[in-house]
Amino acid sequence: MKIVFATGNSGKLREASEILGKGFELVTPAQAGVTDDVPETGLTLKANSIIKAEHIWNSCKCSCFADDTGLEVAALGGAPGVHTARYAGEDKDFDRNMDKVLHELAVLRTECSMAETLGLKMNRFSRRARFRSVITLILDGEKYFFEDILDGSIAYYKSGNGGFGYDPVFIPDEYPGKTLADISEEEKNAISHRGKALRAMAAFLNSR
Ligand code: IMP
Repeated sequence: MKIVFATGNSGKLREASEILGKGFELVTPAQAGVTDDVPETGLTLKANSIIKAEHIWNSCKCSCFADDTGLEVAALGGAPGVHTARYAGEDKDFDRNMDKVLHELAVLRTECSMAETLGLKMNRFSRRARFRSVITLILDGEKYFFEDILDGSIAYYKSGNGGFGYDPVFIPDEYPGKTLADISEEEKNAISHRGKALRAMAAFLNSR
């Protein structure tokens, strides 16, 4: 099946082709003749995935899907969340985004330790986090949604050369002591938020 994946992110495209396998031919927006970007102005991941998928559908009326992913860090109240791509600025710089999360957690940890030293009762400091992916699929103008998460925690420093985005600072529960950038692409795809959501979408498409 030929389907447009509304993304300009080469990491996402590579993962999706691997996960969906031979039965699907992924087409980029540019290959489908859609070259303009759409502003991600939604207040939720779902709203942004709808905006991206609708942009493709409205431009070429072709079967398409979009994924919007957020990193949700418990101690940061769920941030960066919907601001994951631009957490440290409009240039979407992966390194600066990760540095900002690591810095904010370091500051919070210091504040917690100081409060404890003063005898103030604090909740135990946690580095728990999760990735959440929401996919909007559009077929014949109808929308379908697929969502999944990956639980884990934020590392103290970046590690690994694989993956993309925040992978070097995310330790999935399934691989204690290793970040998503330390494990192979195959291992990441088997457990990841996007892997699970894409497999659910593929099962739905295959069942039609
Ligand atoms: P978006 O879904 O393209 O808006 O991506 C949001 C942000 O999350 C970008 O900074 C991506 O690099 C990052 N991101 C998306 N998926 C992953 C992933 O699987 N691992 C690490 N970072 C990711």
